[in-house]
Amino acid sequence: MPMTDPRRRIPRTDDILRSAPVEAARASVSEQVIRDVIAGVQQRARHGEIAPEQVESSVAEALARRGSIAARPVLNATGVVIHTNLGRAPLSAAAVDALVTASGYVDVELDLATGVRSKRGMSARAALLRHCPAAQDALIVNNGAAALVLATTTFAAGAEVIVSRGELIEIGAGFRLTDLIESTGARLREIGTTNRTHLRDYVDAIGPQTGCILKVHPSNFRVQGFTAEVDIAQLRSAADRSGIPLVADLGSGLLHPDSLLPDEPDAASALRAGADIVTASGDKLLGGPQAGLVLGRADLVERMARHPLARAVRADKLALAALEATLDGPSTPVESALHADAGRMEERARRLAAAIDAEVVTHDGRVGGGGAPGVPLPGWAVAITAGGAPPTELARRLRTGDPAVLPRLHEGVLLLDLRCIPEADDDRLAVAVRDALTTLVPNDGEPAVTPEH
Ligand SMILES: *Cc1c(COP(=O)(O)O)cnc(C)c1O
Repeated sequence: MPMTDPRRRIPRTDDILRSAPVEAARASVSEQVIRDVIAGVQQRARHGEIAPEQVESSVAEALARRGSIAARPVLNATGVVIHTNLGRAPLSAAAVDALVTASGYVDVELDLATGVRSKRGMSARAALLRHCPAAQDALIVNNGAAALVLATTTFAAGAEVIVSRGELIEIGAGFRLTDLIESTGARLREIGTTNRTHLRDYVDAIGPQTGCILKVHPSNFRVQGFTAEVDIAQLRSAADRSGIPLVADLGSGLLHPDSLLPDEPDAASALRAGADIVTASGDKLLGGPQAGLVLGRADLVERMARHPLARAVRADKLALAALEATLDGPSTPVESALHADAGRMEERARRLAAAIDAEVVTHDGRVGGGGAPGVPLPGWAVAITAGGAPPTELARRLRTGDPAVLPRLHEGVLLLDLRCIPEADDDRLAVAVRDALTTLVPNDGEPAVTPEH
């Protein structure tokens, strides 16, 4: 290496380790991460990608980015309330507080009065039962899929699960309930046809080999036209005659009917109609953390709780705390977004549109998360044309901006629906959109930027 080689000017690791930005970063990242970041930046300097003089500032920048955790907050401007790719239900402030408290040592399995070990998550379970008195008992597990697996394992391992062909659903990302159930060692006894299943089909299938009857709410699609399904009340009679458990997988986690979503099943109604066990998710319409809810007959819930698999799918203390706070707390962000006042949304959309010189259009939001398919949530959105620049490029800038914004792209138009954005974030959204727009040069047919591939 000749004396003039610029690589000689690359700062040494020991010197960078003593710099002020690195000192500051030690509060949030490990020594190993710091050393990896430094090595990476020095490497870029060796390859001539940056000047040796830029090494220290590049390290500082990289560490500042690392300092924030991997999960970046996103302003959800899609109008989809339960967006699985954005982590489903955003938690209420009360639930967030509970999470933080529960992150330390807590009495999750201890009775403080006696000092003796107690059942796990007793207070979350009690809250769930208070909010769903139709259930005799409740169990909280890791997620909806775990609740279903635990139910079918407990009642039907080595036996049959009777389920209608109209309810054999895929819940997303190629994930099929059928595969899930069969992975437990239960055999699926498919009955009826895709569009029509009758009570007789269930009755004919019941025998000594039957473990349970499963009713699945096909949450993410609808069969219309010449259809027939057997409701829980009718299935009750079949289950009564044979004494086998009737399990209903509802998915959404509504505990009571919601007038906005008349076709969405709820736990209280399903239990009153005769389901022995109801399973649901905590982070869909209930608006809580990821969790699986099991509600129903005390003896059957007890059997599930005692199954060895229950230990493998138990809810963590953070989820238990957040779930309890969601149940006992004020209205959830999911509820607020679902029931957002259209007039207020329009006002907010007009204010945003005026700030960025865009147009206001009517726009239907969605429940999402595989809930209430086809049910529109009428509202408003800001439509941005950006002087003909590619909307995909504007969308990319919004997603990668600060704060990150996820818009909806529909038929070549970029839409910002304010339904799922807290009003307190309106100004931040306006700034983010203006930032994204100012760097985007309008054009006359010539793309100002290369569209995304
Ligand atoms: C969402 C859903 C599930 C899976 O629940 P997770 O909480 O995602 O594990 C199972 N069944 C139905 C009907 C659902 O809608």
